[in-house]
Amino acid sequence: MTTPPFEVHDPAILANARAVLNACKTGAEMQQAVLDAVKRNETWRGQQCVNLLAPEAPTSPTVRALLASEIGTRAAEGHIGSVQRWFAGTKHIDEVESLCVELLKQAFRCGYADHRLMGSMLGNMAVYYAMAEPGDVVMTVSQPFGGHSSNRIDGPAGQRGLKIVDVPFDPAELTVDLDLFRKMAPLVKPKIVTLGLSMTLFPQPVREIKAVIQEWGGRLFFDGAHQAGLIAGGQFQDPLAEGADVLSGSAGKTFGGPQSGMLMWNDPTLTEPLTTAIFPVLAATHQVNRVAALAVAAAEMIAFGKDFMAQIVANARALAAALDARGIPVLGKHKGYTTTHQVIADVRAQGGGLDVAHLLARANLITNKNLLPNDGPADWDRPSGLRMGTIEVTRLGMKEEQMTQIADFMARVLIERQSPETVLEDVVEFREPYQKLFYCFDTV
Ligand SMILES: *Cc1c(COP(=O)(O)O)cnc(C)c1O
Repeated sequence: MTTPPFEVHDPAILANARAVLNACKTGAEMQQAVLDAVKRNETWRGQQCVNLLAPEAPTSPTVRALLASEIGTRAAEGHIGSVQRWFAGTKHIDEVESLCVELLKQAFRCGYADHRLMGSMLGNMAVYYAMAEPGDVVMTVSQPFGGHSSNRIDGPAGQRGLKIVDVPFDPAELTVDLDLFRKMAPLVKPKIVTLGLSMTLFPQPVREIKAVIQEWGGRLFFDGAHQAGLIAGGQFQDPLAEGADVLSGSAGKTFGGPQSGMLMWNDPTLTEPLTTAIFPVLAATHQVNRVAALAVAAAEMIAFGKDFMAQIVANARALAAALDARGIPVLGKHKGYTTTHQVIADVRAQGGGLDVAHLLARANLITNKNLLPNDGPADWDRPSGLRMGTIEVTRLGMKEEQMTQIADFMARVLIERQSPETVLEDVVEFREPYQKLFYCFDTV
């Protein structure tokens, strides 16, 4: 095989995969190479790491088992019901999918929900496809304030042909600058205002924004990819109740379900455009195994969401305060650091987000680099911030006391400058007793 002239993937890693496969004598050996890599990840990330990635959640044993269920091999496209589907034989699939829809409606206290999106990216595309036309103005939050590419020029919003104007944001409060918004929005009369935040610490003024844009019939889209579980668990603002027209969520973030997307709304006039954007535009077969897993995750959220999410937020606050006390500056201090699962540190003094995240990973502390409000376009690969989330550590049963210990490990690497490898052993030992998942029916 010749090396292709251009790769978006790291060419060295692809070359290594080719070398592994070239060394295999049989197809079975190739299979084994795949199984071995999966196993290595399971042992390391699944058992030995303190995973603080904010968009990550371990799913319950039942949710995970459902992802391998027989129903996932069945084809079922279209809307629920024998007439609206192309294939016969879907009566039990209809049962599963309708249970999922009704569970999502219960979990989010709303009139409509869709379960067929393979990712929240597609949910955002469904919204922009259904509720705007190319050339329309949409106001969204830029990345240094926490915005996500899906609502920007290089993602679904931009690729739908929408004109993107920034939602003005207050860099200290980390909320929308309402005064400025009230001045700016009437000048461009956005068809949609999207509040989509991958860096999310505090509630946003949904009601106030809706009141402004209502004058010209503007719609408010709350992209709750990160906050979905907190919203379902009643531990964050309730965007739909506050006037958002559509709420989306990533099922695999705080919601603790299989990685995929969810769309929720109340206005019946949106039902036709949104659901026809999903089918036949964005989803055909939509992985019914994943739908079953999502349904169970919703049931877990209804039963355990309040306690689970409250502990996630308490843990995030504890981690933030402990990091700050150890000399690692944390954003939002004057507002109690956070009201979500996230903690955002300013690690410029420790070498910046990229280097810090990789340094910590050598000690099995998994985080990610993050843009901060003062970062410019030149800083995108090497931003100032570090983002942490407490979903996984909380589901493993950790409480505030363990957050202090995690902050200690981080401070040993970042402040005391101990080599990550010396801290690693202690992290593995610390993680060892936490192997069971809580806030699910498997563990009572
Ligand atoms: C993660 C994220 C998405 C994309 O969600 P996927 O489920 O990974 O497709 C969209 N919007 C925001 C704000 C996000 O943080």
